[in-house]
Amino acid sequence: MTSIVDATRVRTYEVRTFGCQMNVHDSERLSGSLEAAGYVRATDGDPDVVVINTCAVRENADNKLYGNLGQLASTKRVHEGMQIAVGGCLAQKDKATILEKAPWVDVVFGTHNMGSLPTLLERARHNDEAQLEILESLDVFPSTLPTKRESTHSAWVSISVGCNNTCTFCIVPSLRGKEKDRRPGDILAEIQAVVDDGVTEVTLLGQNVNSYGVEFGDRQAFGKLLRAAGQIEGLERLRFTSPHPAAFTDDVIDAMAETPAVMPQLHMPLQSGSDRILKSMRRSYRSEKFLGILDRVRARIPHAAISTDIIVGFPGETEEDFLDTLRVVEQARFASAFTFQYSVRAGTPAATMADQVPKSIVQERYNRLTALQDRISLEENQSLIGRKVDVMVTAAEGRKSDQTHRLSGRAQDSRLVHFDVPEGSGVPRPGDVVTLQVTSAAPFYLIADSPDGTLEIRRTRSGDAWDRAEAESCAVPSAEPSSARISLGLPTLRVATTPIYDTADGLR
Ligand code: SF4
Repeated sequence: MTSIVDATRVRTYEVRTFGCQMNVHDSERLSGSLEAAGYVRATDGDPDVVVINTCAVRENADNKLYGNLGQLASTKRVHEGMQIAVGGCLAQKDKATILEKAPWVDVVFGTHNMGSLPTLLERARHNDEAQLEILESLDVFPSTLPTKRESTHSAWVSISVGCNNTCTFCIVPSLRGKEKDRRPGDILAEIQAVVDDGVTEVTLLGQNVNSYGVEFGDRQAFGKLLRAAGQIEGLERLRFTSPHPAAFTDDVIDAMAETPAVMPQLHMPLQSGSDRILKSMRRSYRSEKFLGILDRVRARIPHAAISTDIIVGFPGETEEDFLDTLRVVEQARFASAFTFQYSVRAGTPAATMADQVPKSIVQERYNRLTALQDRISLEENQSLIGRKVDVMVTAAEGRKSDQTHRLSGRAQDSRLVHFDVPEGSGVPRPGDVVTLQVTSAAPFYLIADSPDGTLEIRRTRSGDAWDRAEAESCAVPSAEPSSARISLGLPTLRVATTPIYDTADGLR
């Protein structure tokens, strides 16, 4: 690993992340690689290096990137030696265009060579010349890079990268390449390492988790992986995202039901309830098969909270197609849904399809869909009133609200729960678990206020890890190189991690 040229001054960095959980986890690796090379995270809002980890999937990704770069241009003019790096999916897609549009950028790197970032930064500084390095295939599996974990209680662990499907709306296959599976032993070793360090919740990540094993020819590898991970002592909550309905087999449902650590929660992307549109999206399941999966999951795991992704206004979608989506949503009884208005992504097959649906119609359908899902989410949440829930207090949502004095956390089924801390009660730390009774419900969260002024708190290893990180962050001067605290798979910092959902999106 490259070290910094000027040994007398430690350079600071900031990573800005756009997009999905994959990108957030990739940013943990970018931070880890930088810290292993001697950089420290900036705490004064004036970093020497700004890394933007971009997303090409979301709407307005370009605008967001160039807006950020425009602001950074003026900062760079007054900050001598400042460097700007752009990586991630949009960099992989746009390559040299970024340097043409924003010549003040120092480094552009892709999704396949994140580990090169420190070297590219140093080379750009040394040669006084922008560096562009985009690989078309994976250099090293990203999980072998150093990782700076953002949470002491929850960790993401990648099981695969890339995707062998060809959904016509999706840019991922062309940017992330074919699916590459990590060896089961490496995955389990990483889970063990994070658990040893205090993590009690792990989310397995992949573009299409249940096709895991396709590379080494084991169709049941994902179910086996869930069972094996579930045996790791100290791992209390095991989740995964995202599966694909086409290859979601009963052995996975069995593994979920028979592995106590696997949480009663499933994110199962529907995308459309119209079989005609699913075909046009090149999604190889049909609505009946999709609903059949939900039935079988609920037969084995009755309290499972099932969430989904839905795209409204895909090219060619008629009113009849849309009504099919409403019908499936009504039947599926999702706990929540990410709802998206279709918009053109250059480079995808759907971008050039005829019959793009006018924006006004897309908006009108979107409003009807979200109204329906909000009603269902509320009804599903109201059905939980009176039930006991085990809530893991989260750092992201655990800050005391000035108005309500409530803390927040996630139930086992990943529902967001707000609860009050009665006067005189102990206060749970992020990662601790409180047992609560649900007292009221809204579409996007549950309230569980204590009726008798006591809180049932279970102090956990994750809470202890939070305490250690707090003490460490007070004791370690921020300008001190922290490479010693970075190691493979070991979480080191406690900031915020929301386990499953990106609430900035259209979560209904
Ligand atoms: S399954 Fe489809 S939507 Fe998901 S990453 Fe692969 S191509 Fe994209």
